[in-house]
Amino acid sequence: MDGSDWSTAKLSTLLKNSIYVKADSDIFDYYERHGTQMITDLAMFKGEFGAQLYGQSKHKRDNPDWSDMKLVLLTHRRIVDSEIWLKCQRKLEKNKQITNSFSNSTSWLAGKIICEKCGHHMTTVKGVINKNGDVRRYFNCTGKSHQKICTVTKVTIYAEDLENMVYDCITEKLSELKEVKRGGKAFEYGEINDLKLKLKAVEQNEKQLMDTMLSGGFNSDLLVLANQKATQLKQDKIALTDRIEELKSRSEDTSAIVNLGRSWKAADYRRKKEVADILIEKIVISVDGDAKIVWNI
Ligand SMILES: [Zn+2]
Repeated sequence: MDGSDWSTAKLSTLLKNSIYVKADSDIFDYYERHGTQMITDLAMFKGEFGAQLYGQSKHKRDNPDWSDMKLVLLTHRRIVDSEIWLKCQRKLEKNKQITNSFSNSTSWLAGKIICEKCGHHMTTVKGVINKNGDVRRYFNCTGKSHQKICTVTKVTIYAEDLENMVYDCITEKLSELKEVKRGGKAFEYGEINDLKLKLKAVEQNEKQLMDTMLSGGFNSDLLVLANQKATQLKQDKIALTDRIEELKSRSEDTSAIVNLGRSWKAADYRRKKEVADILIEKIVISVDGDAKIVWNI
């Protein structure tokens, strides 16, 4: 898939929807932990295909129990790496929990801007009409305006300037994400995922064995065998975990990648805000007016 014709709408959708993720063992894990009914066999989660979540429309958004939903693996090859996708889900879940009391509708950066000096949020304020007849928006520290504990910044932080600057940074960030490739490490990624799937299967076996033992389904002879089996499974688990750790440490610096496009020019306010929410944790403004972006990804 070519990145050039990506709209921001697509971008925010693909970061939220499971059908775009390369569903692997971590994705299986994520949904299973939420109690989702897993329809496709674990072994199929090889990080190639997307997955469809059914029952979303009936599911209450703030219900942490997802057992009323089903996850089915699709057969389309997908583009978003699981690591980056999961980061986005965690971010979105966090956003859901924090009621954004600082949001104001006049900048898509609202709620993200922090005054370095006092640590309070900065909100947009409208200036007076200038000689060109324009009203400019600027960011003002709430520590100064509401609580009188902060002094004025040396320069005026115009919302438009900051938005343009951040806009450029996001564009750059997205192309950066596009450029970094797993490259030669693809082999290790595949191997790690295979190991994780095996580990998961061992854990399922263990659970099954445990359930049977607890239900009293074994006589004493079988119980000896079952204990041997349990020991074996435990050893398998240790060996698999060690191997995963080894491979992981070898490919530490291979960060997760999305093939993201650069065009989010046509995006409206809401879309820009969505992308900013996903990508940016906060923007810290120094007394001198310098802006430092703290990225989520
Ligand atoms: Zn301040």
